[in-house]
Amino acid sequence: MHDYGLLVVGSANADLVIGVERRPAPGETVLGSDLAVHPGGKGANQAVAAARLGARTALLAKVGDDEHGRLLLTSLRTAGVDTVGVLVDKTPTGVAVITVDPSGDNSIVVSPGANARLTPDDIRAARTLFALAPVVSVQLEIPLETVTEVARSLAPGARLVLNPSPPAPLPPEVLAACDPLIVNEHEARFMLGESAGEDPHDWAQALLALGPRSVVVTLGADGALVAFSHGCVHVPSPKVAPVDTTGAGDAFTAALAWRLGVGEDLTAAAAFAARVGAAAVTRRGAQESYPTVGELPGGGH
Ligand code: ATP
Repeated sequence: MHDYGLLVVGSANADLVIGVERRPAPGETVLGSDLAVHPGGKGANQAVAAARLGARTALLAKVGDDEHGRLLLTSLRTAGVDTVGVLVDKTPTGVAVITVDPSGDNSIVVSPGANARLTPDDIRAARTLFALAPVVSVQLEIPLETVTEVARSLAPGARLVLNPSPPAPLPPEVLAACDPLIVNEHEARFMLGESAGEDPHDWAQALLALGPRSVVVTLGADGALVAFSHGCVHVPSPKVAPVDTTGAGDAFTAALAWRLGVGEDLTAAAAFAARVGAAAVTRRGAQESYPTVGELPGGGH
């Protein structure tokens, strides 16, 4: 029996956001807006997105014993995420310092903090969580050796969903466990290098050749491509008026991972995830923008 619909292993950050007229040049100081502090990090975002959809979700992550860590624990618990796997460390909670200019462009500096201290030993110590989860979702804002240990810790029959963000070279062992590997255009180009070309169908096939059991390429407003050994399917996204795309990829990945766990096939799970991603871009922020099932375009099913 699975106690959880989804186990997310990943980062938890406080996003510190300041609006600026323009970015400072080296050595220069500029004044900005009031500081806004939001719960973020790809792991926490995915866990909140899945829980808001109704998935029984646990997060395995590490935060500091500080205000930012408490902000994250509160937002996770408010969304209904089981935080038994959120470890509290002596190092500061990870932060992303984000400046936003009037055109909406972001510049971001990340201090990984406690995320960098989520170790392979922490993964081994969480065997009970892995035993209870049919799907495990992981990203790359935690150390790569920890991600490798996650790939080794899946329960028999459990699936690994991996979004390689921020992109980094992946060991063959991790790639072989992905089912699916989920990438956006930027991550696909990083993984394929110069030979990528311009056609997302070619990216999907070339990524499959790297070893994952399946691949999903997200294409923003154009939806996503789903690729497995016997073919490639385009999944459209509902047409919406986008307000802020922050965190859409995390919402898409969380939704897809959960639906795989309840037994849907990959194409059906991606079609559901596209509706969740589309809903997420119609509201500001990341976690604040995530829909419940009843708020999805096209109704709640
Ligand atoms: P981000 O980095 O902004 O979180 P991403 O680049 O990882 O996102 P995208 O491909 O931009 O991922 O978006 C993920 C999914 O969200 C898409 O596959 C799509 O279903 C949905 N989506 C994103 N942008 C739009 C949009 N403008 N209109 C409709 N759906 C969208």
